[in-house]
Parts: sequence; C-alpha cells; structure tokens
Amino acid sequence: MASKSIPEHMENPLRIAEVLLPLALGQAYSYAIPDGVQLAAGDFVEVPLGPRSYLGCVWDVGQSFGTNMKLRAVTRRCDAPPLSEAHRKFVDWLSAYYLEPKGNVLRMVMRVPAALDDPKMQMAWVLGEVKPAKLTAQRAKVLDVAAQGFAMKTSELAEAAGVGASVVKALGALDALKEVALPPHRKFAVPDLNAGAFKLNSDQQVAAASLRQMVATRAHKVALLDGVTGSGKTEVYFEAMAAALAAGKQVLLLLPEIALTAPFIARVERRFGCEPAQWHSDLRPRERERVWRGVASGEARIVVGARSALFLPWANLGLVVVDEEHESAYKQDEGVPYHARDMAVLYGVLGKFPVVLSSATPSLESLVNVDRGRYDVVKLKDRHGRPELPETSLIDMTAEKLEAGQWLSPRLIADVATALQAGDQALLFLNRRGFAPLTLCRACGHHLNCPDCAAAMVEHRFRKQLQCHHCGHVEPVPKACPSCGAEGKMVPVGPGIERLAEEAVRLFPDARMAILSSDLSRGQMLRDTLRGIEEGEFNLVLGTQLVAKGHHFPHLTLVGIVDADLALESSDPRAGERTWALLAQVAGRSGRGAKPGRALVQTYLPQHPLMKALARGDRDTYLEGEKRIREIAGLPPHGRLAGIVISGKDANETFRFARDVAQAAPPAEGIQVLGPAPAPIAMVRGRHRFRLLVKAQREVNLQAFLGAWLKDVKPKGSLNLQLDVDPYNFL
Ligand code: ADP
Ligand code: ZN
Repeated sequence: MASKSIPEHMENPLRIAEVLLPLALGQAYSYAIPDGVQLAAGDFVEVPLGPRSYLGCVWDVGQSFGTNMKLRAVTRRCDAPPLSEAHRKFVDWLSAYYLEPKGNVLRMVMRVPAALDDPKMQMAWVLGEVKPAKLTAQRAKVLDVAAQGFAMKTSELAEAAGVGASVVKALGALDALKEVALPPHRKFAVPDLNAGAFKLNSDQQVAAASLRQMVATRAHKVALLDGVTGSGKTEVYFEAMAAALAAGKQVLLLLPEIALTAPFIARVERRFGCEPAQWHSDLRPRERERVWRGVASGEARIVVGARSALFLPWANLGLVVVDEEHESAYKQDEGVPYHARDMAVLYGVLGKFPVVLSSATPSLESLVNVDRGRYDVVKLKDRHGRPELPETSLIDMTAEKLEAGQWLSPRLIADVATALQAGDQALLFLNRRGFAPLTLCRACGHHLNCPDCAAAMVEHRFRKQLQCHHCGHVEPVPKACPSCGAEGKMVPVGPGIERLAEEAVRLFPDARMAILSSDLSRGQMLRDTLRGIEEGEFNLVLGTQLVAKGHHFPHLTLVGIVDADLALESSDPRAGERTWALLAQVAGRSGRGAKPGRALVQTYLPQHPLMKALARGDRDTYLEGEKRIREIAGLPPHGRLAGIVISGKDANETFRFARDVAQAAPPAEGIQVLGPAPAPIAMVRGRHRFRLLVKAQREVNLQAFLGAWLKDVKPKGSLNLQLDVDPYNFL
C-alpha cells in the first residue's frame, strides 16, 4: 500500500544477494540485485570487488528496507546450473570443521571458472591469415602455439605461450588469429547397468545384496567393505553403484590419484558399458570444463576421480565409494587441509546418501567406527577363484650374510631367479626414492645436508645430482668434502630404489625391468609403465609405494619387500598401522592372476609383533594391539588431535611466538596443548618450524576450543601459523 507517509525505500525494498567469493574470506558480501534479474541461492554470478570483478556464488538472497543504497550491484548471472543446497551446506560445514575461511573452500568448488559460461557460446582462436606487421617475441610464441592447430581459448592460449591475455587479443584484432566457435562438449553416455556384470560368487552376492539394500533406503549410512586383496571388492561396489544409478542418481568413485589407471577405467567402462567421467590433476582444461559442467548438469552419471572430485558441483549425488579408504593420499596437506574420506562421509550426512569405504587394510578409524556400531561392515574373506592369500615368509636379515653395498639376501635372489625362469613376474619393493638416502665423507664423517632444510641431500644417480626431498634444492655430488676438503671420500650410505636397480641389473641382466618411483615417472608415462606391468611386458618391477596402491598385476607371483622395517621408524602415531597397510597391500599384489603368489619380507626385526602377524596373515590380532595402544595414549580414533605448525625465518623469534601462542590457550577440560617442540621436519626452505599438538578427548568440541583460542592470534612479518585438524602426515 503506497502512501505519502512511507519513505520511498520502504516501498521498493532493495533485493540483496549475499555472494561468497572464492577468496580467503570468511563470509559472503552483500550486493544489490539489479531490476529484472532473478537470482536464487546457489546461482553463480559476477560481481565487482575493489577495482576487479570476480565470479562467486550466491549464498543467500534477501531484501533490505534500510537505506544501504550504496551497495554495488551484481554484474551478471552466469549461465551455469546452480550449486545445490547440499553442496552449499558441505562448503559451510567443511569450513567450520577445518576452521578454514568459507571462500577458500568455495575456491575448491570453483576450480574451473571457464565452465561457468554456456558451453554452446564458447569462442576460441585458430591461426589467422594475416601476418602481423610487428612480430614481437611474445606474439611469435602465441602464433607458434596456434600453428599446432588446436582451437584454444584466450586464457589457454595465453598460458600455453606464457604471455598475457592482451597479447592474444591484440593478435585477434589484427586478424593474425581468427575466432571460431568451439564445438560442443562431447556428450556423456548413459550407463548400461547390466553391460558387463560378472556372475558373483556366493560371498560377493551376499555382500552386494547388503550394499544394494543400503542404497535402496536412500538414507545416510556408511558401510565398510572389508575384504582381502583380490576378493573382488570392486565387483561388489560396482553393484552398489548400479543400484544408485538405477535410482537416477550420480555416483562418485574416489581413488587415490595414482590408482586412476587406464586398465581400471577400462574395467569401469566394461561394467557400465560407457566411459566414466574422470577427474584428476592432469586433465586438459577443456576436459575439466566438460566434466565440471556435466557434473553440474547431472549428465555425468559416473565420475571416477581423485580426492578433489568431491568438490565438483554435484547436481544429484547418490553414492560415494571410497576405494582404498586407508590411503593417506586422501589427506590434503597443502592449501585447505582436508581428508577426502572423512569429508565424503560428511557429505553423505548432508546429502542424505550412503557411502561405501572399501579396503583390504581398513584404517583404524573405520574399524573403530564399526566397533561402535556407527558403520556397517560387509566382509569378503577369500580371494575370488583362489582361496589362498600369498604365502608370506620372513627373511631374518640378522642371520643373512650380505656383502657391503648389497641389499638383497641370497634367499630373495634365488627366489626371484626362479620366478623369472618360470616366466613369471617379480616385484622388489623399497619405499625410498633416489640412489642413496645419505652421502657422507669417509675422512671426517661430514653429512651432506640441504642448506635450507633439516634434511639430508638424497643422491639421484640417474639425474647425477643430490636432491632435497623437502624443498627440491639440487646440487651436483661434490668431488671434495665441503667440510674437510678430502677428495674422493664422499660415499653413498644406504639404499634407494635406484641403487637397488643397480644391484638388480647386475644380478638379473636379462630381466625386462621397470622402475616405479614418483620422481622417475609421472602422469601419462607412469600410466604407460603401469599398463606395461599389467600386460606382462616387464618381468621384474622395482617400486616405491607407488606400487602398493590397488593395482591389479595378474602376472605377478613373487613380491620381495627389501626393507620392511623402514616405515616403523617414524614418530607418527599411525606408523604401525601404516606399515601394516603398506606391507600387506604390497604383498597382496602377488598371486592375483592364474598362479598363486608369495611374498618374502626382509626384516631385522623378525620378532616384532607386526612382522609375526604379517607372516601369519593375522591382521586382526595386530590391529587389536594397535587399537589398545591408541586407547591408552588417548590418540585417534580414541581421542582427537590438531597440529599447529608455526614457522618463520628466525628460529628464536619463531619459537617465542609459538610459545606465546601455546600460553594463550584458554584452559579447557579434556584438552591438552603440547609443545612447542621442533616439528618432525624442523626446517624447510630456510623456515624454522615448531609444532604444537592439541590433544582432546573425543567428546570435547575441539573446533570451538580452537576457534576461541586462535581467533586473535595474528602472526606478523615472516611468521606463519598453519592449523591441521585431524593431522595425518606428521611433517
Ligand atoms: P579387490 O578389489 O578386492 O582387490 P578385484 O575386484 O580387483 O579385487 O578382483 C580381483 C580379480 O578377480 C579381478 O581380476 C576381477 O576381475 C576378478 N573377479 C572378481 N570377482 C569375480 C567374479 N565374480 N567373476 C569373475 N572374476 C572376478
Ligand atoms: Zn631443502
């Protein structure tokens, strides 16, 4: 009702959008919604901020009867499907759980800004007919890239040529580049739910039925699929995926990045009669856009992806399967630290859908959740088609006679030789990159350390250099000792995978050898090597932990673990659990094909409970022991931890700040703040690091405590504070 007595702004309330931007901001900012524009929560928009414009997401819409007419207006609404309510809640919860600004979490969702534009309208550049009169070096680079013949968008072309976008646009204005419309994205095929299902064995049928039933309830529930290596867990969770797809939902299959291999994708393709969408770090930009868009529109029904796939803008997610759920690769430490398995469960709660966690060596966290009745468990006890697990034997290295500079025991050598002669494949596992972990001077005992990190320089002989594994610093191997000047006295100490390779070449000169180490093979090259191993092109494989991650190598019948004690030495509270998982998984690569497999484990600690359990194949007894140790110590999963790493250029200043932060902790029942102590890696890139460890009883609200404590802590100058809730990798 308009009347003279009502001020004008009350008659025409200002419509306001609260827009969250993908920046380190804790809250959404208010913008006016222009007349004629319809906006709802979840819409992607462009807004001005300072001198720039940003893409963001509408978190809320409302009205104002106030006089805040100074609000800047939303510039435009993007032509993309809105972010669902569940996904927005997910961002809010994740931000609250990890005490991370909401905008930083949204940034993980909005990784592909190009996908926010209507894909039908997209333009790209190809080489034009005109040669520019003035050919600068930058222009020449752009034209070189364009000459390769791919149509590329301004940003892609600029990035590929290493120049700014303006260079590209200028060439466009001169007709040296020609604008073309990009073809529409390839469509996502509709899965065929009965395309390639195996006839399941009876255990698998029981397991699959209970997962299908869980999916049918369309409620949140977590099931742990706990089955020995090779028991056919994949086939079983495929059934859960089929059930969710049949209900019209999207499904996400999370894998540790390294397990995203072509053979695995082919397996999904066979099962569902179509290529699944993939999400991992080396997708081409255009494919990223396609998948992001397909997930947002709901057309991408099956996504197989690495941890960040959780943040894709799901339209209608109905199931997440986390394969190899025990893997520490699900924990991200850089940027926003989060654990993808835990966040998949959280998303399941918010989105009201089930989550399947699959592993042959489940995490203690998940096993304890089963004990507490929070998770269901579905077990597969036997390998499919062959009841026996690889027989595992210990080699007591204290009793073996090894020459200096030799790492393989006579027994292991003999067995590898036998396997190779029989036409089988053997794997030697050593979880250490490089040639030698330490180089020292035989004259004075000096160790070569990184100048910037508290870490030894690791020799990489293939690349003829010493490398720091923390900061990447490299230098040549010195001829003379930098400390005493003695020449020719520097010696490598201990084995790395490259040194093992040297020994293996000497012992097995005719073997077709493959070396798998993250610094030697990455991306496509790594996937090719993995395929070669799977297809039997290689018969002797040397690998670091890259080989432990869920691969199916059907020709492999002998696994030799060169140094089983290595991972036990760490100060990480999960060292035992992790060593178990690593060794059991590596051993479990053996005997997955037609022939039975074996594993030989070289150890100097044959009496250690872990080694004894490994030889007996007795996981449960070992893990019960670990559970008790954690319980007594109040460590996860029986208590909670948060790590705070404080770093800075000056050691004293950093320590003092860390101590002040510790002293500022408010007193709280059931919470202990330990430290500061030097972090496990006490210096990285010249920055000194101290760590505080917060130990809380399980029922304590850790986030509330941390929030209240840290809200006024402001590191200045070179100082930095990094919070890690539920730390996994103690760095
Ligand atoms: P896991 O994931 O438990 O290690 P996989 O699902 O990879 O085990 O299965 C191991 C091997 O057994 C694979 O080659 C798989 O194709 C095969 N397999 C599993 N179940 C069946 C089945 N019911 N019929 C035929 N082959 C099967
Ligand atoms: Zn370094």
